Amino acid sequence: MNFEYTEKTKALIQRVQDFMDVYIYPLEQEVNAFYADPGNLWTVHPKIEALKAQARQAGLWNLFLPKDYGALSPGLTNLEYAPLAELMGRVKWASEIFNCSAPDTGNMEVLARYGNAAQQAQWLQPLLAGTIRSAFLMTEPDVASSDATNVQTAIVADGDDYVINGKKWWSSGAMHPHCKVAILMGKTDFGAQRHVQQSMILVPMDTPGLKVVRPLSVFGFLDSPEGHAEIHLDNVRVPKSNLLQEEGSGFAIAQGRLGPGRIHHCMRLIGAAQRSLELMCERVATRVAFGRTLQDFSSIRQDIARSRCEIEQTRLLVLAAADKMDRHGNKVAKDLIAMIKIVTPAMTQAVVDRAIQAHGGMGVSADTPLAGYWVYARTMRLADGPDEVHMHQLGRDTVKHWTR
Ligand SMILES: Cc1cc2nc3c(=O)[nH]c(=O)nc-3n(C[C@H](O)[C@H](O)[C@H](O)COP(=O)(O)OP(=O)(O)OC[C@H]3O[C@@H](n4cnc5c(N)ncnc54)[C@H](O)[C@@H]3O)c2cc1C
Repeated sequence: MNFEYTEKTKALIQRVQDFMDVYIYPLEQEVNAFYADPGNLWTVHPKIEALKAQARQAGLWNLFLPKDYGALSPGLTNLEYAPLAELMGRVKWASEIFNCSAPDTGNMEVLARYGNAAQQAQWLQPLLAGTIRSAFLMTEPDVASSDATNVQTAIVADGDDYVINGKKWWSSGAMHPHCKVAILMGKTDFGAQRHVQQSMILVPMDTPGLKVVRPLSVFGFLDSPEGHAEIHLDNVRVPKSNLLQEEGSGFAIAQGRLGPGRIHHCMRLIGAAQRSLELMCERVATRVAFGRTLQDFSSIRQDIARSRCEIEQTRLLVLAAADKMDRHGNKVAKDLIAMIKIVTPAMTQAVVDRAIQAHGGMGVSADTPLAGYWVYARTMRLADGPDEVHMHQLGRDTVKHWTR
């Protein structure tokens, strides 16, 4: 494995970096303050769409979509995309500017991989153009959804339609004013073998019977404008042509979706960890306590050294996973994807926590991005599969490997 960035990647890193320096960092505090203001809930900051147009114009658009999608994709491998996603992860809302934000990236991959021509024309094209946003509805309040076979939402055939009934929550992005479609996982056959009961279906957000009941808060943050919604579906009727692939393929599609989604989160989290370390270094280089700058205390140096080691270890593991996905496919890379999903959010949480500590009270305020990073890292230990589920599967597969 050679993780030296190619000339092409180095040039793209420079271009994303320049874009961030010129357009994104200078707006960071203004946009964060706008989204934190309860008066602006579920409203997009007025400069966001213009910035997206600029990024698109600059060719820094949809960089996440791997090159096996031909004309749809800008042609990067996961390995080439990794350092770019890392840069985007340094600012909470930067990924959206490059049309590379969750949950749209995972949903676009699903539509690119499993959608038919009509579904792609109706939903993938506007998502790729960044004119609409989307949500992914799998988790349910009434069942342990870390086991996706538990979902209870019913998708029942009725003439040319399916009728959907159930409850979903933690539907990230569903509060966004531009969210127009959800990919929903439910059951078409409750009596079938456990992994073929599920199907995925496209549900336009304005379908009668789909009710956004409330936004959920995360440690008190509403994450406007995307939000995380609780949604009730009461006799929601959509045409049969909205089904992705055939009945019973939902679980397999979910597995396919979550691999790329997970690695993208890990790449962004490394950006958050890296920037936390940089902010910590800047802070301790000048702040004086008990007659010394903080950097001269051994405990602070150890925190910095430990953080640097952990970030680099994790970055290399993520690159190894990206490389395996590129060369052997997502399925073969599943153990590495589980490893990075276990390691990266926990590493980021620890690094951010040290940076918060070194900043004193300022660290938990909104004057730095640290509090937001901490919340992101902590919640990523649950979202896209809790830590224990990945460890359970990785442990099981590791024993199987060495005892076969
Ligand atoms: C901020 C945020 C955003 C999210 N976005 C989305 C989204 O867009 N779409 C969506 O569908 N879902 C989303 N989720 C939901 C997320 O994927 C689920 O919360 C997660 O899968 C866990 O499901 P659950 O909450 O039902 O927990 P449960 O299934 O009830 O699990 C509770 C706990 O049990 C433990 N546990 C479970 N299995 C095992 C095991 N095998 N071994 C040991 N311990 C175990 C774990 O500690 C786990 O956290 C989001 C969640 C958060 C917090």
